[in-house]
Amino acid sequence: MAGRFYVTTPIYYPNAEPHIGHAYTTVFADSLSRYHRLVGDDTFFLTGTDEHGLKLQRAAEARGVHPKELVDEMAEKYKRYWALMDIRYDRFIRTTDPDHEEVVRHAITEIYRKGLIYKARYSGWYCVSCEKFYSPGEYVEVEGRPYCPIHMKPLEWVEEDTYYFRLSSFEDWLREVLKGDIVYPRSYAVEVLHKIEKEGLRDVSIARPKERVWWGIPVPWDPEFTIYVWFDALLNYLTGIGYLKNPETFSKYWPAAHHVIGKDILWFHTAIWFSMLKALDLDPPRRVIVHAYLINRGLKIGKSAGNVVSIDDLLEAYNGSDGVRYVLMRIFNPAKDVEYTKELFDNIYNTELADTYGNLVRRVGVLARKKLGGTVESDRLDPELEDAARETIKKYREHMDEYEISRALEAVMDLLRRANAYINRERPWEKPDPTLDLYSLLETIRTATVLLSPVVTKATARVAGSFGFTASSIEDAVPEPGRRYQVRDAPILFKKL
Ligand SMILES: [Zn+2]
Repeated sequence: MAGRFYVTTPIYYPNAEPHIGHAYTTVFADSLSRYHRLVGDDTFFLTGTDEHGLKLQRAAEARGVHPKELVDEMAEKYKRYWALMDIRYDRFIRTTDPDHEEVVRHAITEIYRKGLIYKARYSGWYCVSCEKFYSPGEYVEVEGRPYCPIHMKPLEWVEEDTYYFRLSSFEDWLREVLKGDIVYPRSYAVEVLHKIEKEGLRDVSIARPKERVWWGIPVPWDPEFTIYVWFDALLNYLTGIGYLKNPETFSKYWPAAHHVIGKDILWFHTAIWFSMLKALDLDPPRRVIVHAYLINRGLKIGKSAGNVVSIDDLLEAYNGSDGVRYVLMRIFNPAKDVEYTKELFDNIYNTELADTYGNLVRRVGVLARKKLGGTVESDRLDPELEDAARETIKKYREHMDEYEISRALEAVMDLLRRANAYINRERPWEKPDPTLDLYSLLETIRTATVLLSPVVTKATARVAGSFGFTASSIEDAVPEPGRRYQVRDAPILFKKL
């Protein structure tokens, strides 16, 4: 039976072009989405840009343009990069979209009416880059001054009137929710529970005085205040699937939501987001899938750390989107930070894509044409390769269902290595009739191609076209005797570096 799968990325601050860090998250969400389509789930994939707030207001001021002009330009850049990376989203949401602004006004008014929002004075240390207040114990001190632990920049002291969301009233409920399997990997839920244990759940400021932050959505009943950018941004996950506007689509995909996030925004996507949903009488999402950082020279990759690797450079280095997507997913790690190095990326590309997958496709294609004129059919299948393929499909699905994409890809590579060993051992080029060998190898290539297709989107389509099979459903991966291959071409898929 087909399930429903709604997957989101965080919406990104478009204060600079997307880089390898954004690609890491977005390719992962896209690959999950493609996998779920492959297995027949009704799937919706949402990504977009988070366009309000002080950071963008200041970036626009620095350039002497209106923030809307800046975000219009940047949203186009994001779309262009996602096209280059073969990211196939169902909607690209912008928080300046009119339907989203409507959702935010509606949601905050609803929560206010329930008495869960109140006005009070606030003071604290604030990071403009995070758009977040830091309490003692959360910030780090550099020469006696509080610094943002992520950006390593001095925090600003801010004192002002604001509106608070009564987060504290959700504490018991939230603890219960976090005890379930809602956060993956589970260790991150423990982290949030630990923080609640230590500090309690404090009410959170959800508005800024307009005189300081004017670029955002005004508080509907008090336009001297602007709605805090995080409160605004989180609601994109509802707008994206038609909350208010299209209740049928909305009830189809909510709560089948899977939020892919980096570990730095865990608190917002659990404590705050779940409570906002509860305040709106909505279920929490099905899963929050958290990943650790991609780091470069010891720091999380980012504009402020100055260690960005550009998507242009990656596309150039690894011959387009397939190479970049594969390498990023092969190192993807939910639990541990992964260090970017050129040696590591080059090595994965060469040994796995070029030498293992690419080389097998090329060799089998050439042999099928040379020895059998390109037509390969057989009512038998070598049980060694057949069993290995069936076992691989099983493992791959288990890993993908657990969001362990790197391990899923590893299972496919193991199968391909086995097929390469098989061809070296059987030496089909020396046999008068190598039909059984080549047929079995083509079936193995078919299995691997279907399983790789959510990540390696273009080369897999090319192999299917060249060898004459379809790779559009997980059923297409299952090895079977009795098919007929018409090998038209033996493509060289990945040029070695
Ligand atoms: Zn910061």
